[in-house]
Amino acid sequence: MSALFQNYARRSLHIVKGEGTIVWDDQGKSYLDFTSGIAVVSLGHSHPKMVSAIQAQAENLWHISNLFESPAQETLAADLVKDTSLSRALFCNSGAEANEAAIKLARKATGKHVIITFEQSFHGRTTGAMAATGQDKVKEGFGPLMPEFRTIPFNDQDALKEAIDENTAAVMLEVIQGEGGVNPIDPDFAATLQQLCESNGLLLIIDEVQTGIGRTGSRYAFEQTSLKPDIVTLAKGLGGGFPVGAILGSEALADHFGPGTHGSTYGGNPLAVTAAQTVVDHVFEEVFLEEVRKKGAYLREQLASLFGLSSVTCVRGQGLMLGIVLSTDAAPIVKKAEENGLLLVPAGPNVIRLLPPLTVSYEECRQAAAVLEKTMMQVEYTVS
Ligand SMILES: *Cc1c(COP(=O)(O)O)cnc(C)c1O
Repeated sequence: MSALFQNYARRSLHIVKGEGTIVWDDQGKSYLDFTSGIAVVSLGHSHPKMVSAIQAQAENLWHISNLFESPAQETLAADLVKDTSLSRALFCNSGAEANEAAIKLARKATGKHVIITFEQSFHGRTTGAMAATGQDKVKEGFGPLMPEFRTIPFNDQDALKEAIDENTAAVMLEVIQGEGGVNPIDPDFAATLQQLCESNGLLLIIDEVQTGIGRTGSRYAFEQTSLKPDIVTLAKGLGGGFPVGAILGSEALADHFGPGTHGSTYGGNPLAVTAAQTVVDHVFEEVFLEEVRKKGAYLREQLASLFGLSSVTCVRGQGLMLGIVLSTDAAPIVKKAEENGLLLVPAGPNVIRLLPPLTVSYEECRQAAAVLEKTMMQVEYTVS
């Protein structure tokens, strides 16, 4: 009997090693990893720069807590907010924790308590982030939920206008809903949302936990929209595999988190900041981001051959965050792809997500698309 809680539907694969986009199981079989640990391993597995940075830091200092000034956090914070309208960062350890901080900050800064969120959104598993999440399956059995989240249909301008009242503190959203099925924001809706936030004095919280740090081909996904966030939350790709999260905010907002108001023992510890700084130094280079955009476009082109299959509805997403929308269940395809040496992650019941490391090669994109096509033909043949 397992000594573990059984809260994950784990696959039986035992992965023991990774390098770049490739991982190996304990039988020595290799796989193309198009999950990257759910959009986390941004520079691929065991990137030499990540390994040497972590090794050097581990020999020097692991942890001191936030009792002391941290020049390393200062540098990373400055890099994260550079050329944005935001001016400060606060570090934590995960996406849910970043969203908790955003929720607390929005309430404290506005003195109001209602936060509008969207159906199919995902903001994390802690009580506040869970209450913000627009998916019943995440919340079932855990009530009473933290109150004052108003969840409305995504990309619905009328619902948004109707939901705003004098108690609304903020609107919180993902620019491309990740777990909910790779659903991008509609540009018209984004424009209306921005305008309504400004005219009603609402804070705009953008959850970039999945889309941030180069995943969509820009530093942050909001940079490809008309949205001007007041708060941005980060995690997943930020640490490249080391657990670290952050919120970014304007100076005026940050002033509401004075000494003693909020904090974390681990948040931004030396190992985490070293990992994140190494990721950011790479990913925020314009040439790197341009490659992400080109590789994303190339991967999309390679997937075009799937449109001959009856089960494929469309491909959506941006950069190296793509979703293949199916008219059938994603699970049998994900399972068969694994047998064929390609690791994938579903998003909801009928979307296959492609989230390779941002360092994936063109050749690996071509191979993954070929394996996927073969897999989908095999699965279609079996079911019909
Ligand atoms: C994964 C995810 C979270 C939760 O992050 P954790 O690190 O698992 O707490 C929050 N928001 C979005 C958009 C995510 O994709």
